[in-house]
Amino acid sequence: MTLASGSRTTTPAVLLEVEQDGLTGLGEASMPPYLGETADEAWEFLNLLHVPPIESYGELLGLLAEVDERRPGLHAAKAALDMALHDWWARAEGMPCRALWGLFEGDLPPSSMTIGMGDRDFLSARVAEARGFPVLKIKLGGSADREIVRTIRSLTGQPLRVDANQGWGEREEALRMITWLAGEGVELVEQPMPKERVEDMRWLRERSPLPLVADESVVRYADLAGAAELFHGVNIKLMKCTGMAEAHRMILRAKELGLKVMLGCMTETTCGISAASQLVRLADWADLDGALLINNDPFTGARVVDGRILLPDGAGLGVEWIAS
Ligand code: MG
Repeated sequence: MTLASGSRTTTPAVLLEVEQDGLTGLGEASMPPYLGETADEAWEFLNLLHVPPIESYGELLGLLAEVDERRPGLHAAKAALDMALHDWWARAEGMPCRALWGLFEGDLPPSSMTIGMGDRDFLSARVAEARGFPVLKIKLGGSADREIVRTIRSLTGQPLRVDANQGWGEREEALRMITWLAGEGVELVEQPMPKERVEDMRWLRERSPLPLVADESVVRYADLAGAAELFHGVNIKLMKCTGMAEAHRMILRAKELGLKVMLGCMTETTCGISAASQLVRLADWADLDGALLINNDPFTGARVVDGRILLPDGAGLGVEWIAS
């Protein structure tokens, strides 16, 4: 099998193409900022890989496990390899990736649309763009939180999800804010406190009127142990957890533990979003707006239209280059 990867200054940071038997597979690495991985490191790691010919899906999974053990970290680079190999394998089998996990017909959760932080003009423009979405996700965790929510509430009555990005340092303050948000049409709160604040999260989980969802606190499969004592749900992202194979295992394990599942993303192209979308039928909540936030998307594939996730019919990830 041959690998070719390129590093870019736009999204995705690293694009990987694998090829065997005349068929190709595509993957991307887009960096989760809080994991400290750089595009250069990811590119270098992928360029030094030698991948033997793959003859079975078991060999594919074995290779991913072996590459993972070579060095810690580099989750996005590993996700690019996982994605490209899954795309290639399912294309060779003539089926969409989701068929690997028996995910055929069924309802998909709608995706939220993220509204970043900003002044009233900024928020007003973003809310107008997201008018058709059934739910918005807003970023809080600073000193202007109530002001931001009041501004958004003056613009729209759409249900809201809040990502506090570890921003609330005191548990009493976090509880007061969550209780207030519950009265403002907020349906869940992601990562209210810093990930190190385990005992405070245990205290908060017992009292919170809203579901609390782990993001930074749960990166990979092993982090699910104990998570149900601190959170009600977990945000699983391919770039955090090294790709589709681990994301699938994490979703099943999270459900066993009684955790709700959000499938999220970084700022990614339609390649990464299509990969996550192949698993989205298993999620309770989706936050797959990453490709709507960029203007240089080189691919067609899964689309998010007014929150509805439209899966591509094609084999593999269902991703194709836009002819230029
Ligand atoms: Mg988050």
